Amino acid sequence: VFSGVEPAPPIEVFQNTAAFNKDDYPYKVNLSVGVYRTEENKPWVLPVVRKVEMGMANDMSLNKEYLPMAGLNSFTESANRLLLGDDSTAIREERVFGMQCVGGTGAVRMGAELLYRYANRKIVYITDPSWPNHVGVFGDTGYEVRTYSYWDSRTSGMDWDSVKFSLKNAPEGSVFVLQAVAHNPTGVDPSKEQWMEIATIMKERKLFPFFDLAYQGFSSGDLESDAWSVRYFASLGFDMFCAQSFSKNFGLYNDRVGLLAIIVSDQSHIAIAKSHVELIGRRVHASSPHHGARIVSTILNNQALREEWKGCVTKMATRIKLMRQKLYQKLVVLGTPGSWEHVVQQNGMFFYSGLNVRQVEFLTKEYHIYLLKSGRINMCGLTLENMDYVANAIHEAVTN
Ligand code: PMP
Repeated sequence: VFSGVEPAPPIEVFQNTAAFNKDDYPYKVNLSVGVYRTEENKPWVLPVVRKVEMGMANDMSLNKEYLPMAGLNSFTESANRLLLGDDSTAIREERVFGMQCVGGTGAVRMGAELLYRYANRKIVYITDPSWPNHVGVFGDTGYEVRTYSYWDSRTSGMDWDSVKFSLKNAPEGSVFVLQAVAHNPTGVDPSKEQWMEIATIMKERKLFPFFDLAYQGFSSGDLESDAWSVRYFASLGFDMFCAQSFSKNFGLYNDRVGLLAIIVSDQSHIAIAKSHVELIGRRVHASSPHHGARIVSTILNNQALREEWKGCVTKMATRIKLMRQKLYQKLVVLGTPGSWEHVVQQNGMFFYSGLNVRQVEFLTKEYHIYLLKSGRINMCGLTLENMDYVANAIHEAVTN
């Protein structure tokens, strides 16, 4: 049945991890896949998550029945509040609907489908670079995908002129995917002033903000500040979406917990959006998984557990920041050519290093350090133990 069909290209991040796992060099380092690692370079199940899971295992009142179409109610409601704040006007006015989805990816897909099919949105703008699946998901849904330059290699910062140009010249009704915080892969976010300018232009030009919030807490360590951009747009009365992922900030990667928040200015549109998005969900995943959503809702709805969880998020963000500082200091001490301030200026999990393909290949071949060809480095893969090794290798790659 597949004779003559070309195989699809490999997915770089998984290909890298497979190669890393096969590599038996004792000092190998995996800086590619976007997951948190402890100081001991181990995956981390948050202790508060473990505690809740133990409770769930012993809770005989829980069962395995299907959830309602929109998912677990206590989860969707608490996720909406985590996103928009307990005092959100949009929530109070019942202008928000949360649809549980299969991870942040599922939420992006669900939102993309809803807009394309029922709101006549056919054009999407995505930053270049971005999380590659943005182009994949919107492209597969049928959109005309337009990318615009976001990264300025001369300043190792944002290409602000290009961002503004794209916003000002996009056809009315275009969808803009906006990473709310800790932009993947660049770690470069707009300042508050820039967000305000983006919002002004989007209002004027009637563009649709589609936020993607996959790293709430990972930039500042504070959940409230990291949701600022989304809350600001919501306060301006936009019709907008936000795809929330709980993979990183709860460490629930393979439990696939996500939410599509649909925020509208006209309350009567909620019922319409809800009916359609539920039906799309019905045809894609039929019913949402319970386990991860139950963990998140149990934690968010219990003050003590919530505080404990916030502590975990802060701990992860703090470790990442420390790794940034250490790497920066090492490169400065080594006198590695170029400016490395962007190591400490960028936010979140990723360091968009500016290393070119040849340098990346050199790191992998000579040092068994695995990272993406774009030069993106997952800062969580660094530890105090491998820091010197990685910094020296980067130095060699740059000076070689
Ligand atoms: N958006 C961005 C920007 C991401 O980086 C990711 C995860 N890499 C996602 C969405 C999807 O996350 P999930 O694993 O929850 O599907």
